[in-house]
Order: sequence, then structure tokens, then C-alpha cells
Amino acid sequence: MLVSWLYPRYCELCHRQGASDLCAECEAKLERVSLPICLHCGSPVGGGEADAHSCVQCRGRNFAFDFARSFCARSEQSLRLIYGLKYHHGNYLAPPLARLLAHLWDETPELANARDWCLVPVPSERRHLLKRGYNQAEELAGELGKLRGLAVFSPLLRQKTNVESQTYLSSGERKHNALAAYALHPSFACGKKRLPVPNVVLVDDVYTTGATAHACSRLLKKLPGVRCVGVLTVMRAGRRWKI
Ligand SMILES: [Zn+2]
Ligand SMILES: [Zn+2]
Repeated sequence: MLVSWLYPRYCELCHRQGASDLCAECEAKLERVSLPICLHCGSPVGGGEADAHSCVQCRGRNFAFDFARSFCARSEQSLRLIYGLKYHHGNYLAPPLARLLAHLWDETPELANARDWCLVPVPSERRHLLKRGYNQAEELAGELGKLRGLAVFSPLLRQKTNVESQTYLSSGERKHNALAAYALHPSFACGKKRLPVPNVVLVDDVYTTGATAHACSRLLKKLPGVRCVGVLTVMRAGRRWKI
């Protein structure tokens, strides 16, 4: 009580003072990913494709993850939250956004019906880490871990690449770059460290083409004992949207 008096919180979207950095009303108004979705990649699809595993996003691709889900669609509000988290020293937004991931967790049958999960954040580039002071995916995973009582591991590394930004690249180019951009941490690659459970949820803020999720999942599947890799993100962005 004293803490909230000393440090009042204001909703990131409506700026009203309250108990959270994202108030319940604004949270309820966030535009969700429209249903039905592809059961594999989680993209909205036409009715006939809903259970076909062959949506436009998945066609011709062989995503290494078992399923991917996002809480909200791209909208002015969700972009403000993601920009806040990513670019405006907004790690205070990690707890309310992790709450959205926790809702998504509960709505995802694959997660609700399985046990033995751990969380892995998508690693961020060193220059972003130095600039921001934190990796937003790590912050989200940490907060989600607290909410669901799950351990967080970091078996992945982001490698330096020559490409400045993934923005405006074709999905093929993104995929190629993403594969080169991630690697297994040496201690996991040599088997010195292992994930203690067979099921992994990869956590990130935004899902765009699936290239990052695919590249990271492909590496996670190489780890001994890993059976299933799911992907949870706060937002799903269109391919050409700058994030
Ligand atoms: Zn609000
Ligand atoms: Zn799909």
C-alpha cells in the first residue's frame, strides 16, 4: 500500500492511475488474434484451413516449433505496448505483458494438458542489450516464470550478423538470416548443461514471419531430451510492419 502511494502506477495506454501499468479495462480492450487460427503457426486463417496445418504462413515452410500462439493482434494499442517495452526503457511493462502471456498459456490446450515445461527467452543482440540494458524477451520469460512457477533457461545465443535490420526483408531472407543469427550456448552444445524437462516454451515479444521462432526452435530441438517446443509471444505483427 505504502509502495503504491510512494510510487503511483499509471496505465501505459489510458494514463489513469491504478494498480498496474496496464489497467484491466485497457487489457480487456486489446484486440486479440482473430479466430480461427492455424493450429501450427497460430496465424489467423480462413475457416477451411483451421485444422489443415497448411495455412498461407505455413505453406512451403517446415517450422521447427510444434505450435506458436500470440495474445494480441497488431493494433495501435498493442504497438504502443510493444514499443514501450522495447524502446522506451519499458521493462516495467514486462509484468503486465507477462500476465497476457499467462492468459494465453491457460487458453492453449497443448500447455494446459502437459506438464514438465520450462521457458527459454529469444536472446537479443549484444548492441541492443547494451542500449536497452535488458532483453525484453528475458524480462517477459522471467515474469511469466514467476506467474506459472516455471524455470527459465538461456541455452541460446544471439550472434553478430551483418544485417542491420530484418525489416522489409522477404520471409526467405529473414529465415536465412535468422538461422545464421542464433546458436546454442557452448555449455549446452557440448552437453555440459541440459534442460531438465522435455518441453520448452520459447518466449518473445513479437511474432512476425516465424523466422526467429523457427531458427531458435530448430536449435532447441537439437538439445538432448527436448520433445516439444511451443512459442508464445505478446503480439503477432504483419510481415511488412516495422518493429
Ligand atoms: Zn488503461
Ligand atoms: Zn500456419
